[in-house]
Amino acid sequence: MAARVLDGKAIAADFLMALKERSASVAERLGRQPHLVAVLVGDDPASRVYVRNKERAAEKADVRSTLLTLPSSTSETDLVSRLQALNVDPKVDGVLVQLPLPKGIHEPAILRAVSPDKDVDCFHPLNVGLLAEGSPFLLPCTPAAVLEILRRSNVPLEGANVVVVGRSNIVGKPLALLLIQKEVGATVTVCHTQTRNLAEEVRRGDVVVAAAGRAGLITAEMLKPGAVVIDVGTNRGADGRLVGDVDFQAAVDVASAISPVPGGVGPMTCALVVRNTVEAAARRAGFKAAS
Ligand code: NAP
Repeated sequence: MAARVLDGKAIAADFLMALKERSASVAERLGRQPHLVAVLVGDDPASRVYVRNKERAAEKADVRSTLLTLPSSTSETDLVSRLQALNVDPKVDGVLVQLPLPKGIHEPAILRAVSPDKDVDCFHPLNVGLLAEGSPFLLPCTPAAVLEILRRSNVPLEGANVVVVGRSNIVGKPLALLLIQKEVGATVTVCHTQTRNLAEEVRRGDVVVAAAGRAGLITAEMLKPGAVVIDVGTNRGADGRLVGDVDFQAAVDVASAISPVPGGVGPMTCALVVRNTVEAAARRAGFKAAS
């Protein structure tokens, strides 16, 4: 039987609709809408699309969004001072710097320059530390998107073997941290380019999360029959179309559920950026953290 397709677009729409209530209470207390500022340096077309998608998601939860576009000639010092100004602006709750940055700008320095209180991407070392400690304030967006899709699709995670392919600071590593939290309770294997036998590891997964950025890396033969597959990868296929890391056409006959690319993790990631903006604003308004 063909796998259930996990519709990230529909899940994100529900999530944002539910977020409106929290957004409205925060707006009432602050006397203004929660406010996200996205900083785009240069003119990478893909980055423009990602930022536009986040703006659209913000609209759906009554969150204000502003785009700050800077030329690709912007220096690291200029960018840092722009971020410092946003950090102290009382009318700004969330700040995100769209990656990748132009060559010559040291990414880690920029990610550290965003105030942890407004760090809606959850890239600042303080927020990463809180996550590692098990008491996160803001959640890493793509990892939290994966978890939200699994939860809302009623995929059991307690005690489940979850195989994550990829160990980046943006996806694989923080996802592993989220999954091993006591409230989730998964047993996690993290694979990377030094993994000896990827197929063998993947086959142990009740849930497989592919986040390698390699089209077709995960084949149907690697999957345990009935596995749940979440494809984070976004790659350009030979014909220019967006494809994931999983051979979707074949995997759909082996998996019990699978997220597509596009229309899977991407929309939910945008929704999580908005959720973090609302939570950052909620803290500013003196609300307790949402559970
Ligand atoms: P990244 O920084 O390039 O990391 C890729 C990871 O995959 C690395 O840990 C790498 O291992 C591992 N890897 C690569 N090839 C592999 C192979 N053949 N076998 C095993 N492991 C392999 O990428 P990223 O930022 O994590 O992003 C991963 C993918 O997700 C990309 O396609 C990206 O565009 C996509 N993405 C999507 C969203 C979304 O919202 N949909 C958000 C973020 C990222 P090493 O560490 O050994 O190099």
